[in-house]
Amino acid sequence: MSYQAEYIWLDGTSPTPLLRNKTKIMADGKEPPMWGFDGSSTNQAEGGASDCALIPVRSIPDPIRSGDNVLVIAEVMNAKDLKPHVTNTRAACVKTAKKYAKHEMIFGIEQEYTMLRLDGTPLGFPPGGFPGAQGPYYCGVGAGRVVGREIIEEHTQACIDAGLLIEGTNAEVMPGQWEFQIGAADGVTVSDHMTFARWLLHRIAEDYEVVISFAAKPIKGDWNGAGAHTNFSTKAMREGYPAVINACEAIGKKVLQHVENYGDDIQSRLTGKHETAPWNKFSYGVSDRGASIRIPWQVERDGKGYAEDRRPNANMDPYTVTRIITETVCSAEKL
Ligand code: ADP
Ligand code: MN
Ligand code: MN
Ligand code: MN
Repeated sequence: MSYQAEYIWLDGTSPTPLLRNKTKIMADGKEPPMWGFDGSSTNQAEGGASDCALIPVRSIPDPIRSGDNVLVIAEVMNAKDLKPHVTNTRAACVKTAKKYAKHEMIFGIEQEYTMLRLDGTPLGFPPGGFPGAQGPYYCGVGAGRVVGREIIEEHTQACIDAGLLIEGTNAEVMPGQWEFQIGAADGVTVSDHMTFARWLLHRIAEDYEVVISFAAKPIKGDWNGAGAHTNFSTKAMREGYPAVINACEAIGKKVLQHVENYGDDIQSRLTGKHETAPWNKFSYGVSDRGASIRIPWQVERDGKGYAEDRRPNANMDPYTVTRIITETVCSAEKL
C-alpha cells in the first residue's frame, strides 16, 4: 500500500524562519526522493527562477498518521547547482560537526515556548487583562495554575512514538509557557530532533486552535521570556573540570558573535532580570541562573560534566547555535 511522506524544511522568513511542509504519496517500498517547491512563496527565490530543491536527510515514523507514514527533514538546495541554499543552516552544521568530530561534542536543548490564542494573547491570560503575578505557575498543577496540558500530553507521546530524544517537560514561569528538552546527542541529531519536535508541536496545537510562539519576549514587563538553554560538553569536559572552565573562557572571548546568532529580539529577553544575564555582559558561574553560562553544581562536585549556555532564545536556530558553540569550544580545545 502507498504511504505518505511529510517533507519538512525551514523557509527564508526573516528574522525567524518558519517551518514549511508538504506531503508526497509514496509507492510501497520506495524511499522519499529529492523533491522541489516554489521558493518564491517562502522567501527563498524570485518568481522568475522560483524552484528550490529538497533533499531528504532524516526520516522518522509519523506519530500522527502512524502506519507506514513518515516525517522527513529535507535540506533546501539551489535548483541550478544543488548546492546548499543560503537559508540552509543545516549544511554548515554538518560540516562543522565533521571537522570537530574527534571532540565528541554532545548537546541537550531546553525548548521553552508560549501558547497563544488566535488573537495573540497567551493562554491563561484573561481577555484584555493579566493573570496573578508569576510564582505559582512554574512546574504547577491544577486549574488556574496551568493551561494547555492536553497539548503537552499529546506532543510528548507523539515525540516518544516517533523515537525522538525527548527527555522531559515542565510548565514554565509565565502562564501559558511550557518547556520540553531534547538530548543528549551530537549537534546535528539534536537539531534534527528539535526540528521534528517543533513541527509536531505546531501540528498538534493546530487541532486546538492554539498558536505556538517561540518569541523571545512574548509579553513585555514582569513576565519571563522564552529561551532555549543549550547544554553542551566535549569528551574532555565529561572527563575533567579544567576543560569545562576552558570552554566557558573560550565562549567569553566571542560574546557578540554568539549573541548575534542566538535568535531574534535577544536584547528584550536578556535584560539581567527574570533569570537572565544582560545580553552584552558575559559571565559564568556554578549554579548561577543569572549568569550567561551556568555550570551545574553537580559538575563542580564531580569535577567533570557539562555547561549550560542560558542565552539562546526560544526562537534560535539549533543548527546555527550548536555549530557556533562547537566552533568556539573545539577550536580552543587541545586534544
Ligand atoms: P535545568 O532546567 O535545570 O536547566 P533540564 O533538566 O531542563 O535542566 O535540562 C538539562 C539538559 O542538560 C538536558 O537537555 C540534558 O540532555 C543536558 N545534559 C545533561 N548532561 C549533559 C552533557 N554531559 N552534555 C551535554 N548536555 C547534557
Ligand atoms: Mn529546564
Ligand atoms: Mn526553563
Ligand atoms: Mn536550563
